[in-house]
Amino acid sequence: MLSMGVAMFDYMIVGAGFAGSVLAERLGRGMGRKVLLIDKRRHIGGNAYDCYDESGILIHRYGPHIFHTNSSDVFDYLSRFTEWRQYQHRVKASVDGRLVPVPINLDTINELYGLDLDPAGMRSFLASVAEPREKLLTSEDVVVSGMGRDLYEKFFRGYTRKQWGLDPSELDAQVTARLPVRHNRDDRYFTDSYQAMPMRGYTHMFENMLDHPNIKVMLNTDFQEVCKHINYGALIYSGPIDEFFEYRYGALPYRSLEFRHETHHTAVYQSAPVVNYPNEYAYTRVTEFKYLTGQDHAATSIVFEYPRSEGEPYYPIPRPVNAELYRRYQGLAEQRPDVYFVGRLGTYRYYNMDQVVAQAMTLFAKLSGVKRSQALAAA
Ligand code: FAD
Ligand code: UDP
Repeated sequence: MLSMGVAMFDYMIVGAGFAGSVLAERLGRGMGRKVLLIDKRRHIGGNAYDCYDESGILIHRYGPHIFHTNSSDVFDYLSRFTEWRQYQHRVKASVDGRLVPVPINLDTINELYGLDLDPAGMRSFLASVAEPREKLLTSEDVVVSGMGRDLYEKFFRGYTRKQWGLDPSELDAQVTARLPVRHNRDDRYFTDSYQAMPMRGYTHMFENMLDHPNIKVMLNTDFQEVCKHINYGALIYSGPIDEFFEYRYGALPYRSLEFRHETHHTAVYQSAPVVNYPNEYAYTRVTEFKYLTGQDHAATSIVFEYPRSEGEPYYPIPRPVNAELYRRYQGLAEQRPDVYFVGRLGTYRYYNMDQVVAQAMTLFAKLSGVKRSQALAAA
């Protein structure tokens, strides 16, 4: 029986992904608070978890995770727990029988249409095919108004319908707006000032973050199972907010994925770290991990991603009706000043890893009562 009259832990933190682990580290090591961090999975790291497969190749169990950020605060903070391997991510899409760069750049256009445009020529080309729209509300608006219907059909419509089970016209602009258009030959997926992979993997970085006597980690532990048996001061929750409130207003929609991992006994499987398949196959993309990790190995491991409507909640689905439902849950959250919701699932936001770290830092500053910059400086 763990229950006692006084709080055993200052904080119970649910979820050992980026959100929960950053807060556990800051509160435990930074502020000397007693923290219990739980996760229902058998490992730390949340969806960023990586591990060695049976062949000894480092893989990301929940799909490819590439770290990129423009925030020096976030990068400096994580650098306390890992060294980095510089890595610029590149993606190709299989379109019209060719593998061409994504995001769409000068080479994509020239290769697909048999042209020899320069950057100014590409601007004129896109202007000639674009179908300007007054308001860019949906993911279709963003693409069609920027590059016209043909490129939309070739690169975006099929991929988006597969990935989300919705037409781009039913999704917020922010989804396809994640991809820029480049008028030059830059074929990097991201242009952030910091782009790197943890030298020894994400899980190793999380182990370093959580290695402190004030932080107790309990895995294989669902919040519902233990919440009544453990005394704690405040609760930080990075699981799904609708589940916390027992789906009072109905379930918030999430998009799930099924991952098919394979190992091939060949040094290289494909010509790019990720190949997207907008119009063929049931999967959206194939990732070859050795490109990401730089590992030297005679074999190679890859993962196929099959979008699913049921299963683990990986992606909040950005569209107005879901934002409205989330706001109702937010209303319930506001009536619980003893609970802090954070992370991709806790705040129903399509956030990248760095955005989750930044959000957790902001919450830590609020909890610790000091400015964000000072809060980070705490030992
Ligand atoms: P999570 O990592 O989901 O952690 C939440 C944890 O809470 C989970 O471990 C879960 O088991 C636990 N939990 C939930 N409910 C309970 C409960 N009741 N009791 C106990 N534990 C519970 N971001 C990037 O920046 N770059 C990328 O390249 C990238 N690629 C991605 C690819 C895929 C396929 C996916 C799905 C996401 C990708 N992301 C990427 C996003 C990234 O995964 C998230 O931003 C980040 O991991 C979110 O961290 P989190 O702590 O909010 O959530
Ligand atoms: N997308 C697309 N075709 C592509 C790549 C992306 O239509 O070749 C759209 C799709 O809707 C996708 C979104 O752009 O969900 C964001 O892509 P990103 O690679 O950022 O997705 P994530 O890595 O988060 O799954």
